[in-house]
Amino acid sequence: MRLIFLGPPGAGKGTQAELFTKEHRLAHISTGDILRDAVKRGTPLGLKAKQYMDSGALVPDDVVVAIVAQKLAGIDGGFVLDGFPRTLAQAEALDKILDESNGNLDAAVYLDVNEDTVVRRLSGRRICRKCGANYHVENMPPHREGVCDKCGGELYQREDDRPEVVRERLEVYRRETAPLIDYYRTRDLLRTVVADPPPEEVMKELGKVLA
Ligand code: ADP
Ligand code: AMP
Repeated sequence: MRLIFLGPPGAGKGTQAELFTKEHRLAHISTGDILRDAVKRGTPLGLKAKQYMDSGALVPDDVVVAIVAQKLAGIDGGFVLDGFPRTLAQAEALDKILDESNGNLDAAVYLDVNEDTVVRRLSGRRICRKCGANYHVENMPPHREGVCDKCGGELYQREDDRPEVVRERLEVYRRETAPLIDYYRTRDLLRTVVADPPPEEVMKELGKVLA
């Protein structure tokens, strides 16, 4: 299966992609995770991306397209792209990459949530500094406050989950990314899942629309 997960920041793309790729043994490619890792390690990519990410802007298309092209070249089986594409130019570049490898997308899953849910999810999101695992202070809390269940690492709030940056990210989503819903609808690839319910319910719906 070759899938992309679409939706605003905080829709649950990362959470669902993690569950779904484990169950179906697919590669999980999150451009946000790749970029955060590069920032943490201080690589040239990280140094370039940080300024955009901290302010809630998108990293330039050529940079993220190169990351995804390289990742896709390295995998044989199916995948879930989480957080990519985010612009029409990225969607077109993805079509070209897949065409050249004689592949095609099976579906674009749109996680549809209302804006209040998104704001609550982003303000309570916590990430492990060591392994990147994802929590929510109320909805998906760790067993011990501030400590990762998986590796014991420290949990922190992402710089771009602060309210003023969240506003900008939602604006960028509406302007740059939301048009992709129509892009994939026109190509008959769009599958919509209402993503406000708890993760297990969203997961079930996701299974149904992709069956
Ligand atoms: P995205 O990758 O779309 O930005 P995440 O998967 O990181 O979103 O989810 C955002 C926050 O909401 C995280 O803190 C996550 O733990 C929490 N979350 C994700 N899905 C749900 C859900 N279905 N119900 C409640 N909280 C959720
Ligand atoms: P995410 O973890 O998906 O919320 O992404 C965090 C940040 O990384 C975004 O706000 C962007 O700055 C950057 N980013 C992630 N994916 C992309 C993409 N496909 N295109 C441009 N920027 C991206």
